[in-house]
Amino acid sequence: MTDSHGRTIRDLRISVTDRCNFRCVYCMEPDVRFAPRESLLSTSEIIRVARIAESLGVRKIRLTGGEPTLHSELAAIIAGIRAATGVEIAMITNASLLTRDALREWKAAGLARVTISIDSLRPDRFARLTRSTSSPADVLAGVERTIAEGLTPLKLNAVLIRGFNDDEAADLAELARLYSIEMRFIEYMPLDSGHTWDSSKWVSAAETRAAIEDRFPLIARDDDDPSSTARTFAFADGAPGRIGFIAPVSSPFCGACSRLRLTADGKVRPCLFSTTEWDLRAALRAGATDDHLADFLIDATWTKQPGHGIASHDFRQPARPMSAIGG
Ligand code: SAM
Ligand code: SF4
Repeated sequence: MTDSHGRTIRDLRISVTDRCNFRCVYCMEPDVRFAPRESLLSTSEIIRVARIAESLGVRKIRLTGGEPTLHSELAAIIAGIRAATGVEIAMITNASLLTRDALREWKAAGLARVTISIDSLRPDRFARLTRSTSSPADVLAGVERTIAEGLTPLKLNAVLIRGFNDDEAADLAELARLYSIEMRFIEYMPLDSGHTWDSSKWVSAAETRAAIEDRFPLIARDDDDPSSTARTFAFADGAPGRIGFIAPVSSPFCGACSRLRLTADGKVRPCLFSTTEWDLRAALRAGATDDHLADFLIDATWTKQPGHGIASHDFRQPARPMSAIGG
């Protein structure tokens, strides 16, 4: 499945729900309205799309949300995708619901890897940032359980916002050393439901890297997968772990993008910043055959825009926030 700019799709991100138990300031406003339940794809619809996507060349599926662990049938979704496909199944989560039993159930169902978001190590700040009752200690306990259950390699994600948590770059980077994992810093993107993003709150990957290097000098690695979103670095002192920078704003990686997104309500989005959506749910519910659905995905992919254009003067933030797209 290729687009009109010659890029091949290998990676499908499926949002299983737009609901979340957090209200991160850079993602969801407290009064966000969720899609009606009947508009969300069912477990069998999600599995069917995954199977067809694999037949078109998708090799990796990442389950996301909202918060995917809130889905009552998450294990069945994972097991169904595993039974229907040979793709690698990963998940991204805020770690608030990572009990040992849940992790074991998802792993037994076929989940291979987990990515966990953590934006602050200071309890008061974490509470203000996530507007949740969870804490950094809860997230780190989830990290430890995930590693213990072997859902690895584990990655951590952080978004830094100026004046909020941008002084924690080195502290968060230290988690990579402590847990021998990859700690990734994602530039804040204009995808918040409050539409409050502005460049004064944005912290560049270069600035984040400089702040980390004040404490932990880094060495660029040269084995990054070209379609990877992150540029990764090792610690110069040989400590374990690595640091990744995902810089969609300062260094767009659109030219190597291999991703397609399916929202919880069944819309195909060729790009995070797409302003046009493709209503796969309507086709699914109108009785489309597998061949028709495959053609639908091929056609949607063909329209994938060359880039997101965040830096251009006529950039328009998509109406859907990150939580309703699936990051
Ligand atoms: N709830 C899960 C979580 O937070 O990990 C999964 C969904 S969340 C939308 C996926 C990722 O998107 C998280 O790592 C989050 O930090 C990131 N994200 C959300 N809003 C963002 C924004 N405006 N800019 C950059 N990253 C964002
Ligand atoms: Fe929820 Fe994840 Fe968005 Fe935070 S970033 S509000 S945890 S979906």
